[in-house]
Amino acid sequence: MDLFKEKIKHEATALDENILKVDSFVNHQVDAELMKKIGDEFANYFKGKNVTKVVTIESSGIAPAIMTARSLNCDLVILKKKKPNTLNEEFLQTPVMSFTKGEKYNLTMSKKYIKEGERVLIIDDFLANGEAAGGAIRILKEAKAEIVGIGILIEKSFQPGRKKLEEMGMEVYSLARIKSMSEGKIEFLGE
Ligand code: 5GP
Repeated sequence: MDLFKEKIKHEATALDENILKVDSFVNHQVDAELMKKIGDEFANYFKGKNVTKVVTIESSGIAPAIMTARSLNCDLVILKKKKPNTLNEEFLQTPVMSFTKGEKYNLTMSKKYIKEGERVLIIDDFLANGEAAGGAIRILKEAKAEIVGIGILIEKSFQPGRKKLEEMGMEVYSLARIKSMSEGKIEFLGE
């Protein structure tokens, strides 16, 4: 998605070789018009898959995921990073290592929002080591859902996430694939 890559080139900052800061348009201030276009792009890409629910991981995936769900005419389920006090029904949980915080959290989902056979599209902002998406897959498989694909805004292709997810048989569609980055320089795959 060229428009999104341009935005990354102009507004994202590589803090080092591993972490990209996108807080002016993805995860602190959110570019609403861009999120709508991203939602339409994912919806168009996965339109033949009969998606019944979009699933994301709080919090940075929520904006693109809600736009995708709206475009696909279905609801969004947000996986929580810890069990909310208000969650008093049956739930599923799995530990996940946070890429940015370097500590584990317990990805949590109420059983009532994903039923057996539900056709789920996972959306997240970044793909690095594949931990967050891997945790979502574990929970969704436990709920006996069918995962139809994974949509990622920014894949850091020099990290092992895509390989891990593909080895699990997942289809991964990333809007921007970064080959390498360093302070002040971002290079995309295929450029
Ligand atoms: P993974 O679980 O694939 O290792 O990392 C993905 C998660 O970590 C994403 O949900 C995202 O929140 C966070 N993350 C990974 N890499 C980056 C990065 O370069 N910048 C930011 N802002 N978040 C990242």
